[in-house]
Amino acid sequence: MNTKDQCKQLLDELEQSHELDRSGLIRLLKYADPERLFAAADRVRKIYVGDEVHLRGLIEFSSYCSKTCLYCGLRAENRGLQRFRMTQAEILGCARRAADLGLKTIVLQSGEDKSYAIGELCEIVREIKKLDVAITLSAGEFTKAEYAALKKAGADRYLLRIETSNKQLYESIHSGMSYENRVRCLYDLKELDFEVGTGCLIGLPGQTPEMLVDDLLFFKTLGADMIGLGPFIPCEGTPLAGAAGGDVGTVLRMMALVRLLMPWVNMPATTALGVKDTEGHRKGLRCGANVIMPNMGLNEYKKLYIIYPGKAQGLGNQDPLERVKALILAEGRRVGSSYGGRRRDLGNLR
Ligand code: SAH
Ligand code: SF4
Repeated sequence: MNTKDQCKQLLDELEQSHELDRSGLIRLLKYADPERLFAAADRVRKIYVGDEVHLRGLIEFSSYCSKTCLYCGLRAENRGLQRFRMTQAEILGCARRAADLGLKTIVLQSGEDKSYAIGELCEIVREIKKLDVAITLSAGEFTKAEYAALKKAGADRYLLRIETSNKQLYESIHSGMSYENRVRCLYDLKELDFEVGTGCLIGLPGQTPEMLVDDLLFFKTLGADMIGLGPFIPCEGTPLAGAAGGDVGTVLRMMALVRLLMPWVNMPATTALGVKDTEGHRKGLRCGANVIMPNMGLNEYKKLYIIYPGKAQGLGNQDPLERVKALILAEGRRVGSSYGGRRRDLGNLR
């Protein structure tokens, strides 16, 4: 059997059983015929999570950050960046507008801005919860007690990417942070019964296909409910500004493998994918994605939330929500009308 036929057989096995060993996954990540991989992921997506694409209204509420992740424009040491912090009234105003427009999930994202007391975040969660929406938080690392307080206040989901599951690479791009603590946070969130989202950056300097496959296995072992994958986009004002960055093809292959390995997950076509390639969202929807996160913040702040360049392009042109809805319909899919949480009825078919 030639290599292509062997890969086809591995793909069939993965599509049927949603299991494959590490060496098989490495071969599929390098598959010479990625269209087959994408088509299989699209079939599995349709069977498990259907044609609905869930919209999550993203509010980036603070660009202050105490961490120094080497790849990110918001890192504390990027002194050239003009920072903002939304008031509680501004956050609630954006959430209300998103809910009025029919969005059933609000995602609150920020740098690790320790000036918000946990009680203040809980208060914001409680207020937004009154709008009859699911709430996802993405504000970095906390203690287990702090996560528990946020859960009790009404938060349903939490996004915290592992970024890379390779401890050595992780520590080389997160000075002063601990890999073990990142993993601890994810398992604490799981234990507290959050729907847990994680994911990785693709195209980090020194990252290999083997490391990417280990990321997939990490997601599966954790039992992640949501997976977000994006290309690393080098950002001015950071130590990795001169790096090459990730390519869209590898991101799409990884997305397809996620869908095949963990068919029940919610997986966005990420903002970074859409920034790197104007067709990125469409391509992502065809490779297993079933979520898009339109930015429902205020334009004056969107411009300042520069995790990577290009995010605010096209502001003031077409309404982002309308654009996303049009794309979903053009792809023959439907806009989700429920909270769009993890389908527990599908179980973890392991
Ligand atoms: N501070 C929180 C949430 C904001 S950052 C946290 O770190 O979890 C959200 C995500 O942006 C990060 O998880 C990271 O994967 C992504 N990100 C940061 N810098 C990036 C870059 N240069 N290119 C692409 N994605 C980036
Ligand atoms: Fe801060 Fe998150 Fe950026 Fe790291 S990735 S510097 S924690 S905003």
